[in-house]
Amino acid sequence: MGYRCVIGLEIHVQLQTESKMFCSCSANFFQAEPNTNICPVCTAQPGALPVLNRRAVEYAVMTALALNCRVNEYSAFDRKNYFYPDLPKGYQITQYFHPLAENGYLVIEDDEGIPKKVRIRRIHMEEDAGKMFHQGDSITMSTYSLVDFNRCGVPLIEIVTEPDISTPSEARRFMEKLRSIVRYLGVSSGDMEKGALRCDANISVVDESTGKSSSRVEVKNINSFKFVEKALEYEYSRIVESLKAGEDVGTETRGWDLATKTTVSMRGKEEESDYRYFPEPDLPPLILSREEIEDLRKMLPELPDERKKRYEEQYSLRAYDASIIAERKEVAEYFEECVKLYGKPQTVANWIINEVLRELKEEEGIPLAPENLVRMLKLLDSRKISTKIAKDIFPEMFAKNLNPEELVKERGLEQTSDETLIENLVRKAIEENPKTVAKYKAGKTGVVGFFVGYVMRETKGKANPQLVNEVVRRLLDEA
Ligand code: ADP
Ligand code: ZN
Ligand code: MG
Repeated sequence: MGYRCVIGLEIHVQLQTESKMFCSCSANFFQAEPNTNICPVCTAQPGALPVLNRRAVEYAVMTALALNCRVNEYSAFDRKNYFYPDLPKGYQITQYFHPLAENGYLVIEDDEGIPKKVRIRRIHMEEDAGKMFHQGDSITMSTYSLVDFNRCGVPLIEIVTEPDISTPSEARRFMEKLRSIVRYLGVSSGDMEKGALRCDANISVVDESTGKSSSRVEVKNINSFKFVEKALEYEYSRIVESLKAGEDVGTETRGWDLATKTTVSMRGKEEESDYRYFPEPDLPPLILSREEIEDLRKMLPELPDERKKRYEEQYSLRAYDASIIAERKEVAEYFEECVKLYGKPQTVANWIINEVLRELKEEEGIPLAPENLVRMLKLLDSRKISTKIAKDIFPEMFAKNLNPEELVKERGLEQTSDETLIENLVRKAIEENPKTVAKYKAGKTGVVGFFVGYVMRETKGKANPQLVNEVVRRLLDEA
């Protein structure tokens, strides 16, 4: 009998609108100097009133629809009261009693690769807080904190899942799938490292022999996909150890500590805040008509799952390859562009998966024009270059968007089918390696590879490998 892991996520997604949620300040807080994108509304000056950003609502609804939620025609805003210096109003505007959307799901793969539904309990809109910068030296006690209100009032949605996630790696895949979807929708950068996608993970462990569950622990401050998995693995083992010792971890909130790669206690249950939620009197309810909601549904682009299916059907890609290509919109579009120019979808897919994705940096576009990748595939088809040369020149060609035809000419990389040259090299190898030849004669045909390798080295990968193979076998047989 083992232990079963139960995980539910609470995720914040920053919406990439031009302006903030309730005022016309720029929501692009990253490039700005601290406290320059602020106004009386987002710094809570007396008498300032919020006005809801339409685009933020549209982005929130689109995300909810993409996550198969029912979008409510009636939702409303509430105040969540707490004090912290990055929250000038002393409350956050959120949706508590009447969320924007409910009852959705996202399909992910479980650890065996079988699709499973993770139910989404609710999605609501809320505003982000400012940012604190803690400075100074805690030993000399000369500490102080700075606050930047640029992020204050940037629109967020919070997505709350049911506890349907069964392993830490499923939790990571959930987050990755969500990132893929918000990027396809264009509603968020989905960038966890920059805080545009943040997640609090709740975990408990059930002892299957008794059916009893541990208390639930919440891990906050997880800021990368890798750490979602790492933090939950750490927490899972910690809870299992405590259960084995006949104890319980107790309900608490922990934070992921990057330095020690462990979670550390932030607060116990008894310190739980009381937020004193009540309806926001300064904003009317958010009323959406069915038509408005359906119009937004029509605006949804083809999403990664549909695209994957289409690639399997239309291009006969292998399921795994199709899912890798479809995961990132710019990769998928690149793939389609290349196929349009060249055909042979599986060949294009192989090159994208093995070479393009290896070179591609997470946050950058693909520098290599589809035309240049296709030129290279054609050079391979016509045997003008060997696969080895193609792979050798690929990183540079990719980064600088070089035309491979010119590159190959400039550097003299054309494949050679000069039979005399190849024969001479093979003869030399045979002369220098009588013992290896003897092995061949004794039936060890695997040594052919040794002689082929020799010629390829001597020609710096330019010899036509099929021809080298033929010549090696012929001359070995004659030897
Ligand atoms: P609370 O009201 O205490 O915040 P919720 O029911 O709102 O609890 O759930 C908050 C999050 O915790 C949700 O993401 C949910 O999936 C998750 N959760 C609920 N129960 C469990 C559990 N037993 N183990 C792990 N996560 C859970
Ligand atoms: Zn403002
Ligand atoms: Mg809750």
